[in-house]
Amino acid sequence: LPELPEVETTVRDLRPSLRGRRVARAWMRHRSLYRRESLSLHGLIGRSFDRVERVGKNAVFFFRPSGIVLVNHGMTGRLVVWEGGKEPDGLSPRHLHMRLTLADTGELRFYDARRFGHIFVAEGVDFARDLGIGPDPFEADEPYLRNALRGRSAAVKSLLLDQRILSGIGNIYADETLFYAGIDPRRAGGTVVRRVPGILACAREVLQRAIDHGGSTLRDYRRGDGSPGSFQDHHAVYGRAGKACPRCGRRIRRIVLSGRGTHFCSRCQR
Ligand SMILES: [Zn+2]
Repeated sequence: LPELPEVETTVRDLRPSLRGRRVARAWMRHRSLYRRESLSLHGLIGRSFDRVERVGKNAVFFFRPSGIVLVNHGMTGRLVVWEGGKEPDGLSPRHLHMRLTLADTGELRFYDARRFGHIFVAEGVDFARDLGIGPDPFEADEPYLRNALRGRSAAVKSLLLDQRILSGIGNIYADETLFYAGIDPRRAGGTVVRRVPGILACAREVLQRAIDHGGSTLRDYRRGDGSPGSFQDHHAVYGRAGKACPRCGRRIRRIVLSGRGTHFCSRCQR
């Protein structure tokens, strides 16, 4: 967490409040927040927010004149626009790691309780390629994904989690996608090449529904205004071990696959 729908929701929530605003000061608690080869945040002073986009599971802020800040939330990070007053709901100043103070007094803030997030500042580069991020399920086409899976012996779920292959999918949406596609998460990637159209269609549908619900809030994730998402109430298998499969009624199983809790129906997913 957060995955594509949560980052997309965050970006949509932040976008209208940042456009055109100028950075007056920059602050970071500790250099370890920078991803390797990042430029300094201070280079953004005097530049204005232009576009805010999602790339994979990252929020990316584009500035005028050129410059970008990419924020990977990690497990627990939250981006908020603070307009003055007290600390945003549920956030502690101890977990404040980055501030871009705006010329008109608001701030773009990054909080991260467990410090798994990172930021990357760059200037006019093809950062997605530099970071090795693959296309997300809305961008990827069938030939691309077939090529990526062909001959692979790793479990299809592990391959869906690999951000170099498909960006944006994490543990929740990998499990949900494979449920709707009717595929056992343990199957070798190379054995499901013919089912790529179903995988992509189900991934897109699950992700779009999750975006429509403002994402899934299990622990830390909140929308830009502090409210939780609601897609967790619509999960078919994720987090539902022992409960009835929504399609056939059999109990949903939970196993550990490549170190990740994995939820599936052994009758519906082959
Ligand atoms: Zn079932």
